[in-house]
Amino acid sequence: KPRWIGITGGIGSGKSTVCRIFQILGIPVYSADDRAKWLMANDPELRLSISSSFGEKSYREDGSVNRVFLAEKVFPDPEKVKQINALVHPAVGKDFRNWADKQKSPYLLKEAALLFETGSAKELDKVINVSSPLKIRIARVLMRDPHRDEAQINHIIDQQMPDDEKNEKADFVIKNTDNKLLIPQVLDIHRKLCAGYE
Ligand code: ATP
Repeated sequence: KPRWIGITGGIGSGKSTVCRIFQILGIPVYSADDRAKWLMANDPELRLSISSSFGEKSYREDGSVNRVFLAEKVFPDPEKVKQINALVHPAVGKDFRNWADKQKSPYLLKEAALLFETGSAKELDKVINVSSPLKIRIARVLMRDPHRDEAQINHIIDQQMPDDEKNEKADFVIKNTDNKLLIPQVLDIHRKLCAGYE
């Protein structure tokens, strides 16, 4: 059975970029944030619980998630954010465990922006934090997502655990600054995680 390894990092830290390197090494990656969106749209039980809690308007007539409605009705209200997370997180947890049971590799990765914040780090053997200075993260996100502005990015950062705290909690830290190469850092961790499995 593969060991379950978490990989986290604040917005724009480079989590997805690092995960692509692990994938090239043959390591399966579960992207919890992408999967949460997929499940909201496609998991019949989750759809039902969302529309009964937040109203039928949560879904459009074509069946897709009504992101505009949820952004207006749910996201400004912290209580409602908690409520929707309480529906989505267990669904993602279940989906992850189903997926994990089918993997054959020395270890697998669960990627999530809020791994410590949601408590899901507890079911993982080790956690990697991808760490970058705030200024670089903001600049990268502005480049990647032209529809976002700095205020929106700062708002997201405020809802995430500070990077220093995540570095303390993590078993491994990958520094993604402009003067550090990612591949050697990934290879080093990969070697350590594989050790003992041959
Ligand atoms: P989010 O939490 O928003 O999904 P993320 O942590 O997954 O972000 P990425 O999408 O991997 O971050 O990286 C953010 C942006 O910065 C991407 O456009 C990526 O290509 C770029 N980037 C990441 N690392 C580097 C690097 N070392 N050098 C240059 N560009 C980078």
